[in-house]
Amino acid sequence: MVKTVAIVGAGVSGLAAIRCCLEEGLQPTCFERGNDVGGLWKFSDQTEEGRGSIYTSVFTNSSKEMMCYPDFPYPDDYPNFMHNSKLQEYIKTFAQKKDLLRYIQFETLVTRIKKCPSFLLTGQWEVVTEKSGKQETTTFDAVMVCSGHHAYPNLPKDSFPGLDQFQGHCFHSWDYKGPDTFKGKRVLVIGLGNSACDIAVELSRLAAQVIMSTRSGSWIMSRGWDDGYPWDMVCITRFASFLQSVLPSFVSDWLYVKQMNSRFKHENYGLMPLNGTLRKEPVFNDELPSRILTGDVSIKPSVKKFTETSAVFEDGTVFEAVDFVIFATGYHYNYPFLDDSIIKSRNNEVTLFKGVFPPLMEKPTLAVVGLVQSLGAAIPTVDLQARWIAKVFTNSCSLPTTKEMMDDIDEKMVKNLKWFGQGQTLQTDYITYMDQLGSFIGAKPNIPWLFLTDPQLALEVYFGPCSPYQFRLMGPGKWDGARNAILTQWDRTLKPTRTRAVSKAYRPQPFYNLLKMLLFPLLLLTVLLTFY
Ligand code: FAD
Repeated sequence: MVKTVAIVGAGVSGLAAIRCCLEEGLQPTCFERGNDVGGLWKFSDQTEEGRGSIYTSVFTNSSKEMMCYPDFPYPDDYPNFMHNSKLQEYIKTFAQKKDLLRYIQFETLVTRIKKCPSFLLTGQWEVVTEKSGKQETTTFDAVMVCSGHHAYPNLPKDSFPGLDQFQGHCFHSWDYKGPDTFKGKRVLVIGLGNSACDIAVELSRLAAQVIMSTRSGSWIMSRGWDDGYPWDMVCITRFASFLQSVLPSFVSDWLYVKQMNSRFKHENYGLMPLNGTLRKEPVFNDELPSRILTGDVSIKPSVKKFTETSAVFEDGTVFEAVDFVIFATGYHYNYPFLDDSIIKSRNNEVTLFKGVFPPLMEKPTLAVVGLVQSLGAAIPTVDLQARWIAKVFTNSCSLPTTKEMMDDIDEKMVKNLKWFGQGQTLQTDYITYMDQLGSFIGAKPNIPWLFLTDPQLALEVYFGPCSPYQFRLMGPGKWDGARNAILTQWDRTLKPTRTRAVSKAYRPQPFYNLLKMLLFPLLLLTVLLTFY
């Protein structure tokens, strides 16, 4: 019977893990190598090996209503997309209000986690920690790994012939903190993800020239979507997810590409993804297109080779006198304290059931939180993962057989290839994934029941944003404030922007718009039949 749980890391995943252990009557001990909660959102102007790192100017890409702990909305006046310091403030308040800090041992590094000799019988783990140079080994009944996946930079130096002769400076975006040293410099940014675009735009204000090099391109989206509402509140809805699942793929692909190109034609800006119909995570950057328009940033294909001073691109063009090359080329998964075979049990690929449980384990007493990536935000995802894990640990929920889990992983890999393409990350469709986890623990909202019993709420749940509160609306772990939080989510969204009110506030009305769309042809037909 599991009682004690070791949690590695006190970022947003670790905090969710502590809270969910407590909800299930478990005894968590969280080890955090840093001196504060928040993980990568705790800004530091120094990088630290094995820890995520952000630059001074990072803002969130998920909006506040879509990225909260499901029973802990942000204050009304918080901006919709927050500066990292604001998010860190929220995370700390969450930890304090939920009384989680006393379960965390700060400045304590987990150096090794291995199965106890009695593992087959007990499922227990030996956790070795190090604090102020002193090592300690403690036995735990179970482990939740919440150590993040933006800590080990992927620096593909070998893929670039001549880079060893290049005489300028060369580093990974993990090391980037701010623009000060780049005034008047010529900078090449490799990659076209969120960090690459943020850095290129920021540097373009003071560097002499910024070039971005991309192999496969990206869709560049704005944080403000239709009528200026936060993109995720408009796009991540149950109705949109339903449409995507029933429309023939050529129709949904066409709609997707049309939508992505609605602000500007990506072909004309050199940004067009090679396979534009893949549902890879888009990049959110409101300024990049205008920086390209003003000529401060230019987009180029892959670098073919470096010389001592320049970069030669695949199309034969050359960027001369390069001062800096910044590799914004993503991260490796790495769990140096665990045997590789636990997470990567086949062909050196991450093999985890629902991105959480190693399927080949004799006892399900180890799980990973926060590894899965989707279009949705991390915080609600890790909350649901941690709730599920805690229930598996306490036997209130059981896992399928090893074969069923492996089959599920294989099926998911095939689907992922179709939707997201080849990639290192564990990508998934947000609502489908959240509903699956929710159904494991009885927390998936019952939509037909809601339509029968509370139609006002049902309309907002189905046609409105699939906000985190939906997963604490019913079932175990239910939060009594969830209904009200859903019905007032647009008020909190408009509060920080409607700071000068001259007329009544407008909110999106997807259901009524749909009704109008369906009724209009009917009305037209009736008129035509009546008069002709
Ligand atoms: P982390 O925040 O990395 O925390 C892991 C913690 O584990 C750290 O505190 C670390 O010190 C600790 N740790 C690691 N190893 C050990 C060890 N051996 N012993 C003890 N402690 C250890 N997500 C969103 O949802 N929305 C966004 O807008 C968004 N923007 C992002 C922008 C950037 C630039 C980056 C890099 C990521 C962004 N993300 C965003 C994703 C981000 O990963 C998640 O939001 C989230 O912070 C992940 O939390 P985590 O707790 O899993 O990992």
